[in-house]
Parts: sequence; structure tokens; C-alpha cells
Amino acid sequence: MGFYDYYFGALFLIMGTVLGSFFNVVIYRMPLDKSVISPPSSCPNCGHMILWYENIPVLSWIFLRAKCSGCHTPISVRYPLVEMITGAFSLFLYCFYFHEKLFTPNLEWWTVIPLLLQYISLMLFVPIAVIDVEHLIIPNEFTIGGLIIGLAISFIPGGVTPQMAFAGAGIGAGILILFGKIGEVILKKEAMGWGDIKMLGWFGAMFGPGVAVGSIFIGAFAGLFGSIFMLIIKKMKRGEYLPFGPYLCLGALLALIWGTEILTLYLGIAGIEPSYFGIP
Ligand SMILES: [Zn+2]
Repeated sequence: MGFYDYYFGALFLIMGTVLGSFFNVVIYRMPLDKSVISPPSSCPNCGHMILWYENIPVLSWIFLRAKCSGCHTPISVRYPLVEMITGAFSLFLYCFYFHEKLFTPNLEWWTVIPLLLQYISLMLFVPIAVIDVEHLIIPNEFTIGGLIIGLAISFIPGGVTPQMAFAGAGIGAGILILFGKIGEVILKKEAMGWGDIKMLGWFGAMFGPGVAVGSIFIGAFAGLFGSIFMLIIKKMKRGEYLPFGPYLCLGALLALIWGTEILTLYLGIAGIEPSYFGIP
């Protein structure tokens, strides 16, 4: 580990907490169809404008002793929690994905553009998970926006190729539409949300078909265990809609970072020779 490893690590941690601060605004305002840029944040109780030094991720919440400086209304622990989780997630992504990508010999400057957009896409998993759990929606700004940007940046060399991006979008969305249709026949009600389908189009365009397919299969597996757990602790009733978005995000993340390892493990359990899938 050299100086730059730690330097970039600290940078990713700080970038993450700052993004987390912005995500707090996104999580609150986006489902209400309010602008995430203006007006600036203020106390919902007394209207006190949040000053710049009251808006420093995590630290401000501590030095304000979790109270508004205007009216002393308590500020929810959820705000610093989202900032800390987003910061930790950013550091995780650096350690397990972006470190390797950034310290590749002969890295061309334009490769940083697809990497940056991949980073933003992955970071958006935090607000998507919270919004989907609370409102059962995944905003179009993320999914359709991500799909269009993913397809467009595939023409920049160094990331996913255009063929992979278009195939990924088609395969990702296509499999979910198919699963949705099958589910509709079995359950006799709408089984797959269009938000999930659009999101898989975005994942496929941004990360290629492998991550899209991995996201669905790992996500379905995690979702099954997640819903059994939720039924056991009685946080969910039978027949209730499951927010599938967070599981698909988790699936995409695992497929991106440990896709080959997970596939090898699965093939081992299923008794299939890994070399059929090009794994040595
Ligand atoms: Zn106040």
C-alpha cells in the first residue's frame, strides 16, 4: 500500500459522505416530485436555513447535538446514518473495484469518464434502496437517465463496448419482462414493476450483460431469503409486494465484483464443469 492508495481511499470516503448528505435531500424530495437542487435545505419545523457549517456530513449532526440551532427540534439519526453508510459504501467500492481500475498501467484519461459514471450509478444504489423500501418506486430520473447515459458512454473506448451495452440493456430488461409475464400467469396479478425492468436496462447498459444477468439471479436468490426472513420476523404479510429494487442492486454489486467467483461456486454445487463457461 503506497501513499496514493491511502490518499484515494480517504478521497472516496469523503466523497461518499458528501454524496450521502445530498442523498438525504434526494430521498426526502424525489418521491414528492420536488426539486433536489432548490430551495436550499431548511428546518421543516421552524424554516431555519441550514448554514454551510451546519451541513457538514456527520460532524454537524454531532456538534449540533442532533438539534436544530433555530428551534431545538431533534434532527433524526437517519441523516448521519445515511451519510456514514454512503461513505463506507464509497470506500468499499474503491477497495474492491475502483482501486484496480484506477491503478491500471496505461490508464487513458477518457477511461475516467465511464469509471466516474459507473461510480455514480453504484452510489445511487443507496437512495434507490431507501426510496423503493419506503415508496415501492424507483424514480425514472435514475433508471431511464442511467439507461440513456450508459448507452451513450459506451461509445467512449475503455469501458463497456456499444455491443455489450445494447445487448446488456436488452437482455437485462428482457429477462425481467419474461419473469414478470410468467409471474402474472401464476399469481394472476402484476408480478414485476416497470421500475425494476427499466433499472435492469440501465445496469445492462452501464455494466454489460453479465452483470445484468447476475443481478437478476443473485437478486432473486437474495430476495427469496429476504422475504422468508421478513415473514418470520412478521415485518411482511403473505401476498404483499416485495421491494425488489434493493435486491437487484445487491445482485448487480456482487455480480460486478465477485461474478466469476459466485458463478464458479454455483457451477460447483450444480456439478457443472466451469470450463463450459470459459472459467479456467
Ligand atoms: Zn428548526
